[in-house]
Amino acid sequence: MCDGNKVKCELCGETAKWIRWNSNETELLCDAHRAADEMSGWERIAMHPATKEMMKNFRYKHLPPALQEVSKPFCDLARDVASKYEGAELTAGLRKLLEAKDCIVRAALPPSDDEPE
Ligand SMILES: [Zn+2]
Repeated sequence: MCDGNKVKCELCGETAKWIRWNSNETELLCDAHRAADEMSGWERIAMHPATKEMMKNFRYKHLPPALQEVSKPFCDLARDVASKYEGAELTAGLRKLLEAKDCIVRAALPPSDDEPE
């Protein structure tokens, strides 16, 4: 059985074509319900699994507000390119973008006197 791989629209049960990542869960919608949704952030489900997996690392809603601001443009860019391109170069590009994002977020961390544990 490979029915487990089928994703369904959470509103009508039709085959879902769109996915949106939240801080700790995913939302799934069919074309019709996606068209009716005013919120942004939806991605085509046809995305390669490796790309989809990588996109999780661009989530920022769990961060404090100041760091969300730093992280969001990277997430937006990652979503943009991931919705347009595919393949090994996309994966490599997203990996590098992810590294850049992590560095910049660390750069934006408030200075701390705490010793590392
Ligand atoms: Zn639907």
